[in-house]
Amino acid sequence: MALQRPPELGTRMLPEDTFKGQTVYVTGGGTGLGKAIAIEFARCGANVAIASRDEGHRAAGVAAIEAVGGKAFGTAVDVRVPQAIADSYDQVEQALGPISVLVNNAAGNFAVPAERMSPNAWNAVIGIVLNGTFFCSTEMARRCMARGAGGAILNIGATYAWTGGPVASHSAAAKAGVTNLTQSLAVEWAPDNIRVNCLAPGLFPAADRSRQALTMGGAGGGEATTRPTTTVPGQRHGEAHELGWAATYMCSPFASYLTGHTLVLDGGNWLRRYGLGMPEFTPVREVFERRQGGEALNT
Ligand code: NAP
Repeated sequence: MALQRPPELGTRMLPEDTFKGQTVYVTGGGTGLGKAIAIEFARCGANVAIASRDEGHRAAGVAAIEAVGGKAFGTAVDVRVPQAIADSYDQVEQALGPISVLVNNAAGNFAVPAERMSPNAWNAVIGIVLNGTFFCSTEMARRCMARGAGGAILNIGATYAWTGGPVASHSAAAKAGVTNLTQSLAVEWAPDNIRVNCLAPGLFPAADRSRQALTMGGAGGGEATTRPTTTVPGQRHGEAHELGWAATYMCSPFASYLTGHTLVLDGGNWLRRYGLGMPEFTPVREVFERRQGGEALNT
């Protein structure tokens, strides 16, 4: 028996006016999990800014919000560039009103053994995940403080923040930084009524092209994505709207005493170690090379 399936997609968990009149800014909100999260905010009354580099991604995010009756605005941004963030916030605030919720979801990742990783590759992932989260958060906080208004920030993390991520050392290190940053900023900004939390997803199904790259990031991720019933303790994938519910709750007034917290949503996957006995170890480089050679992921 697996962990029970959640209520159907489209079921609203919070009252429909929870974010009414509020502007929610979602980085990477046009694809994958960011899009699912953005949709859930719209279902709860938010106006949603879809922020990313690619125009096609932004258009997909805006269309998805409008399809559930929400109001959305696509805004071009590279989260590695502080001035681009400020310009994008200006545009969004003009179109939708002051930003009161920020979801730092944008990420980059690809599998590569550490000794083969170029400085550019390292810098790109750290730049998007860690620097981008810091730049977007501080710009938002300065604006909230200037207005005398509170806000909520949700960082999207990953459980390899704690375990390390073989062949994804750049992303794992960046996510560890994001988890830590969540705690520092929560304490700094609590007196300003700005809450900062983190949501760490486990395995979610490959809904689009980039998911495979992300799940390839950790050794064994590929296997688990094709065989969740035997590799995840909960014996199923997560469903993206489950993340949406968690995200909206964490940013809502129902969570107004919650700050500095990282919530893991993964069916128990990262805790599955059983005593000292573990499955047979294969050097990660070997697994990586077999996959590069086109070998099936579950062999
Ligand atoms: P995804 O579809 O690849 O989404 C990444 C998004 O980030 C894209 O929309 C991309 O849009 C945006 N982005 C990348 N670089 C950017 C930049 N420099 N500036 C602005 N936007 C940028 O990934 P996903 O699988 O949905 O993952 C979403 C989040 O969940 C990530 O933080 C990821 O680490 C985390 N996560 C995912 C899983 C999983 O199972 N998928 C597991 C653990 C954690 P553009 O290309 O348009 O810029």
